[in-house]
Amino acid sequence: MTTIAIVGGGFSGTMAAVNLVRLSDHPVRVAIINSGRPLGRGTAYGTTRAEHLLNVAARNMSALPDMPSHFVDWLRSRHDFRSVPDVELREMFAPRRVYGDYVRGLLETCLHPIDARCQVTVSSIDDEAVDIAASDSGLSVLLKDGTAVEGRNCCRCGTAVDAEQVVLATGNQPPGSFPATSPLRHDPRYRSDPWDDWLSRLPPPGGKVVLLGAGLTMVDIVLTLAEIGWDGQIVAVSRHGMLPKSRFRGIAYEDYLPADADSLGLSGLRTIVQQHCERLKQMSQNSAIAIDKLRPHTQRLWRNLSTEDKKEFLKHDAAAWNVTRHRIAVSIHNKVTDALDAGRLKVVAGTIESMVPDEQQIDVVLRSGDGTELIQSGDLVINCTGPQSRFSQIGLPLFDNLLSTGIANSDELDLGIQVGDDFAVIDKDGNTSSGLYAIGPLLKGSLWETTAVPELRGQAMRVAEVLLRREPAAVPEADVIEYYI
Ligand SMILES: Cc1cc2nc3c(=O)[nH]c(=O)nc-3n(C[C@H](O)[C@H](O)[C@H](O)COP(=O)(O)OP(=O)(O)OC[C@H]3O[C@@H](n4cnc5c(N)ncnc54)[C@H](O)[C@@H]3O)c2cc1C
Repeated sequence: MTTIAIVGGGFSGTMAAVNLVRLSDHPVRVAIINSGRPLGRGTAYGTTRAEHLLNVAARNMSALPDMPSHFVDWLRSRHDFRSVPDVELREMFAPRRVYGDYVRGLLETCLHPIDARCQVTVSSIDDEAVDIAASDSGLSVLLKDGTAVEGRNCCRCGTAVDAEQVVLATGNQPPGSFPATSPLRHDPRYRSDPWDDWLSRLPPPGGKVVLLGAGLTMVDIVLTLAEIGWDGQIVAVSRHGMLPKSRFRGIAYEDYLPADADSLGLSGLRTIVQQHCERLKQMSQNSAIAIDKLRPHTQRLWRNLSTEDKKEFLKHDAAAWNVTRHRIAVSIHNKVTDALDAGRLKVVAGTIESMVPDEQQIDVVLRSGDGTELIQSGDLVINCTGPQSRFSQIGLPLFDNLLSTGIANSDELDLGIQVGDDFAVIDKDGNTSSGLYAIGPLLKGSLWETTAVPELRGQAMRVAEVLLRREPAAVPEADVIEYYI
């Protein structure tokens, strides 16, 4: 029987397994190797806090690309949402932990199927994959120790999983950390990982929390501090001082890209997008609609840009792109605005130069755009800067090993790993693997837009089709234009 190992059990890895179960017409053994974040939930949907909401409306959060209303139908089946009118349910920004229940629930039906005729057996292994090597069966995923297994008929042997095919679905790189010699590494007032416990380190009322970064992770923390009624000062520092924008009610707008868009290069594309942003402003509409309209084309446009253009985009456009694309629910935006208005939250623009712990606080030393030095001192400093940006410096055993043996190679921008068509990993000599695949945020350098469920669900289904040697199924186009109530 064929064995497929999936490394990573967040949204992407879980849904790859679910699609293997749905689509296979022959017996297959699937082993999900997951450690770190909760199985079936991953980083985003592993939160236990009710105030952390999805930033995409329920109608666009189906985990299955060929069943667009699957998540809304699931929500409807929950007693909590039984009386929410249809239109509200579709436009709802549900709690992320509820979405985690949805994805984890899909996985449960695979780990413990009630249909005894199910051809695919799925097991989960709670362990860290640390290397992948060639083996008699194809590939062998080496595990850090070898612990609990849940599910049927697992293929683990000692501390390795032998498989014909392996899918890497390890999500975003962890945030960057300080060198081992840095005094901050063991300072309890500094939290390098915003998903680890920081609430137990909260200073007493009147204290100050400094958040490094002003994106969606910062928003999560501001919401939690408001929710628990913490009475102190929050300072968010970021290079540009930009905050995530709010969702809004949009309009139907023309698909404006010309037929030769793929060959226009960055400056040509910028000109067209700017023209449409201006036009929308003149129509008293939000110019972000022009960016939303690019979404079905973004991956293709990205692939057609030159390396120089991609670097230029990362340097000059990516920050504005991120705040425009990854917008937050109106209710969440209002809470952040309340915190700003009340003076509980302050946003400071500057580049972080150093962090100096003293007896009382940690001094975050910043350089502003005009060269002025600014110091923000915090009783607690939380790193919300997002994933480590240089993939080759990731410092995780699995990728250190894959990059050093050359089984995988970082992409040209060093944002993730290089893949060819249908997610097959390309090795350091340029050969396309016949057994190793990668999906999810690891493909950022190759696809740019590979972060949110509307892209990831398609990848999870397509990789399952590739592994099962099936033709791509026709799926309805994602509901990319967002009309918000
Ligand atoms: C805070 C937040 C909110 C978001 N909100 C939304 C939203 O509302 N809507 C939306 O569409 N998108 C949202 N996203 C984006 C997106 O949906 C997620 O990033 C997505 O869930 C990524 O899933 P993943 O499985 O690829 O990665 P992850 O969720 O990171 O899962 C990867 C898993 O692999 C494990 N792992 C990694 N390395 C190894 C290893 N070597 N061995 C074993 N296990 C390993 C990790 O511990 C983790 O459990 C959000 C993202 C974040 C971070």
